[in-house]
Amino acid sequence: MMPEELANPKQINYKNLAQAAIILTNPIHLCAVTHCLLSKKITSLDQLVKIKNQECKKIGIDQEYVKIFYNPFQTVGFCGDLICNETNKPVKKYIELGGLFATRAGVRHELYHILKNHKAKSNLKEYLLEYYFIHEPQADLYQMFGIKI
Ligand SMILES: [Zn+2]
Repeated sequence: MMPEELANPKQINYKNLAQAAIILTNPIHLCAVTHCLLSKKITSLDQLVKIKNQECKKIGIDQEYVKIFYNPFQTVGFCGDLICNETNKPVKKYIELGGLFATRAGVRHELYHILKNHKAKSNLKEYLLEYYFIHEPQADLYQMFGIKI
């Protein structure tokens, strides 16, 4: 947080604040990040697709429902809706991984978000609290131990 943000609370970037909070206070997330960083890196899209298909089978998601992208310049993992139908319901999801987080652990983490349909809310503050303190720890636990909660 920058000093000018402290002087003017309306300028506080809640996303940065929540990220700092989870990194500093959430041991589950620290373990999950370490787990991901120490896992074998995936360096090609072919490998990533193979692992995604294996992990889809384990978690119970149709492998055709999830498309995966490899971006070597990506620093964190992402997932989201790729194609939606006319009622805005996703018919295909995507995962994007690369760099240090392109690992089986990273794939497992993102697949859990897809399985549980973790999505952004319109209220940013509510979304960030839910994301960092509920959704992220849930995905971390599945990534490391296969626990579905
Ligand atoms: Zn996550």
